[in-house]
Amino acid sequence: MDNSILLKISKKHKSPIYIYDGEKIENQYNRLKKAFSGIKKLKINYACKALSNISILNFIRKLGSGLDTVSIQEVELGIKSGFKPKNIIYTPNGVSIEEIEKVSKMGVQINIDNLSILEQFGTKFPNTPVCIRINPHIMAGGNNNISVGHIDSKFGVSVHQIPHVLRIVENTSMKINGVHMHTGSDILDIDVFIHAAEILFDTALKFKNLEFIDFGSGFKVPYKKGDIETNIEELGEKLSIRFNDFCKNYGKDIELAFEPGKFLVSSAGFFLTKVNAIKQTTSTIFAQVDSGFNHLIRPMFYGSHHEIINISNPNGKNRFYTVVGYICETDTFANNRRIPEISEGDILAFKNAGAYCFTMSSNYNSRYRPAEVLLYKNNYHLIRKKENMTDILNNQILVDIN
Ligand SMILES: *Cc1c(COP(=O)(O)O)cnc(C)c1O
Repeated sequence: MDNSILLKISKKHKSPIYIYDGEKIENQYNRLKKAFSGIKKLKINYACKALSNISILNFIRKLGSGLDTVSIQEVELGIKSGFKPKNIIYTPNGVSIEEIEKVSKMGVQINIDNLSILEQFGTKFPNTPVCIRINPHIMAGGNNNISVGHIDSKFGVSVHQIPHVLRIVENTSMKINGVHMHTGSDILDIDVFIHAAEILFDTALKFKNLEFIDFGSGFKVPYKKGDIETNIEELGEKLSIRFNDFCKNYGKDIELAFEPGKFLVSSAGFFLTKVNAIKQTTSTIFAQVDSGFNHLIRPMFYGSHHEIINISNPNGKNRFYTVVGYICETDTFANNRRIPEISEGDILAFKNAGAYCFTMSSNYNSRYRPAEVLLYKNNYHLIRKKENMTDILNNQILVDIN
């Protein structure tokens, strides 16, 4: 990424601001497609909770993607940005049967991960095909907060409960058109993933009318030099062979689906902040930026590492800084980090700010959420205005109690 374009955008639209590089999203999408070019029917459903601006959704839709959603509101955003309901899959966890029914009536593919819901839904709508989210109990995650495959996870129907699933299916005559797993957010080891896939294949053989198998996501992307990333090419090679064997065995070519979030958008995002003040204490130099965990919470919430570059002085000599925000609470973005010399007024760019950054932002301290810009081949467009006081006051009711 050329820093000068980031600087130019920050001059025009001011900091703090999120900037997304469409070309990077496109490259990641095509990389995934290429890795699975040995599959007859491949479906990529972008997991929109990672970054849900409707212009981003529209951009990804035009690459050929479907949409993975976890709430009725995400379904509505998807439809607003041009997705046909049949290209949306809804994978909720712990939501009400009423919401599931509403989404189903919109024509969206439902993915159920709870036996009680399965039975209620199947009894009422035996002719609406549903997908079942299986928990294969494989630990693929890199962090306890985001591994969802272990035995006591709240996600999915345990693979040990398949006999119960089959009984519900038989009793209700409902149609199962897909099986799904999403084993965790950070796949490090391809063989662990393949192991989970084998469990899903075994399960899949028990359902006769499948149209797809959905392997979820959890592709790991590098956040800093030396980080391991999921080897998509190796995964593509190994899983394609197994999947094509499965189809032969099953007697028909079904669809292979994925739902990547982070993989598609993480590295495309840059979050730009301005340094309000430099503060030296006895042991530390703090760089205090015009943001905080109200805008980017991953470092504080998950301990995530986001590379920080000083785009105002990229060639300055490195010094050690602790980068903090302006929130009245500890909000450390980075501890003791080597960054080219920082002066007050410099613009710092946080990398990997595409996934789970803006979507997790808030109005804490009654601050405005930042603007968002979509950049594509040197052209850029404002895709969300910075909030203002009207947004903060919206829906508030001033009551004066005597
Ligand atoms: C969050 C989520 C994803 C996306 O995960 P990433 O790690 O961002 O790729 C995919 N599927 C489901 C069901 C999810 O909840």
